[in-house]
Amino acid sequence: MKKLAINGGQPVRKKLFPAYKVIGSAEKKAAIRVLNSGILSKFLGCWDPDFYGGPEILKFEKEWAKHFKVKHAIAVNSCTSGLQCSVGAAGVGPGDEVIVTPFTMSASVSAPLIYGGVPVFADIEAKHFCLDPKSIEKRITKKTKAIIVVDVLGLPYDVSAINAIAKKHNITVIEDCAQAIEAKYKGKFAGTLGDIGVYSLNFHKHIHTGEGGVVVTNNGKLAERIRMIRNHAEAVMGGRKDMKDLTNMVGFNMRMTEMQAAIGREQLKKLSKLVKARIKNCNYLASKLSKIPGIEFPPTRKGATHSYYTQPFLFNEKIAGIKREKFIEAVKAELPPIEKREAEGVIITCGARPLYMLPLFQKKIAIGKKGYPFNLSKSVSYKKGICPVAERLHEKEMVYHELMRPPMSKKDLDDVAKAFQKVYDNRREIK
Ligand SMILES: *Cc1c(COP(=O)(O)O)cnc(C)c1O
Repeated sequence: MKKLAINGGQPVRKKLFPAYKVIGSAEKKAAIRVLNSGILSKFLGCWDPDFYGGPEILKFEKEWAKHFKVKHAIAVNSCTSGLQCSVGAAGVGPGDEVIVTPFTMSASVSAPLIYGGVPVFADIEAKHFCLDPKSIEKRITKKTKAIIVVDVLGLPYDVSAINAIAKKHNITVIEDCAQAIEAKYKGKFAGTLGDIGVYSLNFHKHIHTGEGGVVVTNNGKLAERIRMIRNHAEAVMGGRKDMKDLTNMVGFNMRMTEMQAAIGREQLKKLSKLVKARIKNCNYLASKLSKIPGIEFPPTRKGATHSYYTQPFLFNEKIAGIKREKFIEAVKAELPPIEKREAEGVIITCGARPLYMLPLFQKKIAIGKKGYPFNLSKSVSYKKGICPVAERLHEKEMVYHELMRPPMSKKDLDDVAKAFQKVYDNRREIK
């Protein structure tokens, strides 16, 4: 009789894991308050008091700034939009280079393209998976205008090293903290560690407004440029005697609605509790899973806290005596999906293809058919091999999962651990 579920045995568990349900009666009340007001958005795309949005937007931004101890918070309709207007505000133009990471969600590397900026990939850290300062240094040229650092999976980037490089070369640091909301580095929140920070409020993030994002900065000039790009800059410039620089003052409509802002205000109140629960669950799982030979939980960066968008670990095939993919496939067969996300299956993932492998970079076709903006840079390369650490982690070592989201109980987490242990104990059944 085979024991493993992948071979027809009984799975460790069939009952779905509990849904991550963060929307409740407070959000419902907030949404109804906005509906009753009849004002679903109050933004005006011209130089008018309503240029900055309606009452919920203004309150949401103020509360966000206070929570994260930052001067300016600017609500947008997604983190993707937030990254794009940040690149624009930083003054990136055609042919300028922007250093990016291969291990992130695609929006953190596509944002420069909107302004004709050329994404230049640097490698990542073997244990923390964020941009490696040593690799960044090698990629800097006279054309480097910005770095988009990503606090990937929930861990802040190497702030002291990377900020020092940026300062030395006069480069803007845009921090994509979509996955690291409320993580900290030396007491400061992710998002406030570079020049500009961008959060995501999409459905999959720690807290959400369906779709949405927030850009933060302590720099008043950058903040105002971001507000302009968010809301039809070109139509507003004429009315603004205080702004002279027309560079990148072509606007979009990246505005958040009143209802999203009202819901976001309630979500913000729940954030700390949700992050604490994730940390507790991750610590518990790590204490159990790290007993399995070949599974290693890398330490959190010194001086930093993790907020666990997902929980990563490293898999050593030699020590475990089984291929990573085979092992994880067998674990997944032992477990049920999470309620409300059934279609995604069991959320455990082996690596992530470095983003320079996307057709966009391999074929160097972005805007138009003629290779713009890549043809503005003679040296940029997207060949396999440019980021060996990212490639090795993808091909062999890295695993990450989402089976720690509250309200996972101790019993639920024990089932996860049981599945891993069972597959390890019976690994000879596979191969
Ligand atoms: C989710 C995510 C984004 C995109 O967020 P949206 O709000 O969906 O645009 C960008 N960067 C990272 C790292 C993300 O995880």
